[in-house]
Amino acid sequence: MKKIVITGAAGFLGSHLAMDLIAQGHYVIGIDNLSTGRTGNLDSISKNSNFNFIEFDVTNKEILTNPSLVGIDEIYHLASPASPKFYQASPFDTIAVNTIGTDHMLQIAKSCDAKLLYASTSEAYGDPEIHPQPEAYRGNVNTWGPRACYDEAKRLGEVYCYEYNIRYNVQAKVVRIFNTYSAGLRNDDGRVISNFVTQALLGDDITVYGDGSQTRSFCYVDDNIRGLQLVMDKDKATGEIINIGNPKEYTILEVANMVKRLTGSQSNLTFHELPKDDPKVRRPVIEKANLLLGWEPKIDLEEGLNRTIQAYRENLITN
Ligand code: NAD
Ligand code: UDP
Repeated sequence: MKKIVITGAAGFLGSHLAMDLIAQGHYVIGIDNLSTGRTGNLDSISKNSNFNFIEFDVTNKEILTNPSLVGIDEIYHLASPASPKFYQASPFDTIAVNTIGTDHMLQIAKSCDAKLLYASTSEAYGDPEIHPQPEAYRGNVNTWGPRACYDEAKRLGEVYCYEYNIRYNVQAKVVRIFNTYSAGLRNDDGRVISNFVTQALLGDDITVYGDGSQTRSFCYVDDNIRGLQLVMDKDKATGEIINIGNPKEYTILEVANMVKRLTGSQSNLTFHELPKDDPKVRRPVIEKANLLLGWEPKIDLEEGLNRTIQAYRENLITN
């Protein structure tokens, strides 16, 4: 049994990861300030004796002296708003959690000789001029715009990992996560899959931003969680940046039509202004994950959407 810390445990990815690690018999400490996460995401494990939830902000330096945070084997540092809607509403908190918060978690990793995985993002590539995006691509990020608080904070979070790895030998690993989805996303999360599925099920307009020709590549949560754990497990991934995402690319218009078809919805598609600096394309090169971890995604968008739609439908009925 390992002692594993997950920051952002009450969020979308953190809660799925916590449930999976508990099911494997590990002891998990979840830390979250509940800014975008919800304790309801943890209902199925909240009473499990192998789970300990600490409501706390990882940017607060008192985290460094928390008596529970000793003898830790692994830290998944996932805390950070992830939806443009939320990170743009709290830019300074977003910068802080990815810089000061990352520094704090790396200090704890150093003192425990624990491994640390940092959840970075495909946004590190900004509005990419190289397509698809390999890890070696250095990106095209605007420092002067609404996405900068997230993109640049994540890039600086990566720098913290680099420095702790080089200077102090901390076993730090960086994962650049590409758009990941499932029913665990809040209905009001604001990201595209939760918006479209919620809108389609309610018969509301499906809100396409721009003309819908921009592309994304969508990874189902189970594939992502398996990828994160492989990165943590494999020594070869220490000191590395690794893309984890599904390389099958769709236009947003294709996604809107697919959601409409799979839900059988009568919703109309409506077109709205494209947000500033919205990346035009995004698709991961996953050769490195394949080579170092033997990882590739297994669940395609149609299957993942069907599972997502079914779960959202059940939730809408029960709520
Ligand atoms: P989420 O918003 O559902 O979860 C983030 C969690 O972090 C929330 O529970 C929130 O309350 C918590 N948090 C935020 N600031 C905190 C702080 N200062 N102290 C403690 N807890 C704090 O987002 P998610 O989709 O689960 O994303 C998890 C991580 O993965 C984030 O770091 C995000 O940037 C990264 N990521 C996610 C995606 C994706 O598609 N889901 C893509 C790229 C990167
Ligand atoms: N998007 C959209 N309608 C929505 C929400 C998002 O057309 O209701 C678009 C958004 O402009 C972007 C893509 O879908 O091009 C993915 O947006 P999301 O916020 O999910 O994540 P991003 O990849 O932009 O961080």
